[in-house]
Amino acid sequence: MPGNDEYWEAMPPTFRFAPSPNGYLHLGHAYSALLNFDSARATGGRFLLRIEDIDATRCRSEFETAIYHDLAWLGLSWEAPVRRQSEHLARYRDAVEKLSTQGLIYPAFESRAEIARLVAQREAAGAWPRDPDGTPLYPGTAKSLASDQRRRLIESGAPYALRLDMAAALGRAGALGWSEHGGGPGGETGQISARPEQWGDVILARKETPTSYHLSVVIDDAVQGVTEVVRGQDMFHATSVHRLLQQLLGLPQPAYRHHRLVMNTAGQKLSKSTDATGLRELRAAGATPADIRRLIGLA
Ligand code: GLU
Repeated sequence: MPGNDEYWEAMPPTFRFAPSPNGYLHLGHAYSALLNFDSARATGGRFLLRIEDIDATRCRSEFETAIYHDLAWLGLSWEAPVRRQSEHLARYRDAVEKLSTQGLIYPAFESRAEIARLVAQREAAGAWPRDPDGTPLYPGTAKSLASDQRRRLIESGAPYALRLDMAAALGRAGALGWSEHGGGPGGETGQISARPEQWGDVILARKETPTSYHLSVVIDDAVQGVTEVVRGQDMFHATSVHRLLQQLLGLPQPAYRHHRLVMNTAGQKLSKSTDATGLRELRAAGATPADIRRLIGLA
C-alpha cells in the first residue's frame, strides 16, 4: 500500500453520510447530511450515502425508504450505488479473520446479566472504569479461557461476542492520533492523541452478526475512499477505536471533523422518537428545505 500522503493526493475529497435505518431522520441528521453535502460541493468533492443496516433486529426497509425520500426532499443527491452494509458481511468476516490470525480477538460467552454481575462485584471492591459513553468496561474474564474450553462452548452452540484484546492490540499498534478539524466535546482540535484503551475489550462481532459498528465503519470508509469523516461530536471518542482498527487492518486514515449536535429546546441531544424535530413531521406541517436549513443554522 502506498504511504498515507501519496494515497490521499490521488483521492478527490470524499464525504459521506451514514445513517442507520432504525428510525426516521430528524434535524440532527439533516445537519450532518447537509454539512457533508455542502462540504463536498464547496471542495469539488464527492458525496456518498451509506446505509448502516447491520442490526437486523432494529433496521427496517420503511426507514431506509424514508431516508432516501427525506434526503432528496432536502435537495441532496448522492452517487449510486448506495453502499448497504448488510450486503458486505463477507468483507467484514475477512477482517475479523485477519485480526483473529494476529491473535487480537477472543470469544466471550457471558450474557449481559452475567457481565453486569461481574462488574457489580468489581464496583463493590472499588472504582471500576467506564467507557466514554458511561458503560462499565468488560472485565476481560473470558480472555483466560483455555482454547479447548472455547472450542467446546462454541461447538455447544453457546452465543458469544468476539472482543478485541485491547492490551495486545495496543502493543501491536503503538501510539496513534488523528487530525481533528471540528472539535471534541471539550473543544479539542488539531492533532488528537487516540486513547482506545478507554473503551476496553470492545465487541467487534457476534456469533450471529460478523461485524459491529466500529469494524464496519472503518472498512467502509476505506473501501469507499472516504477522505473526510464529518459526523456528530457524540462519535468523537469512538474515533480512538477507529484509528486503532485502521492501523491493525492496514487501512488509510481519513481526516475527521466532529460537528456540534442539534439539541432540542430542553438542551438534550435529539433521539429518533422526538416527533417535533422529525423531518417528516416538519414537512407535513408545511416546512420547506430552506426552513430546515434555517432551523439548524445552515442557511
Ligand atoms: N451510523 C451512525 C449513526 O447513525 C453514524 C456513523 C458515523 O458517521 O460514523 O449514528
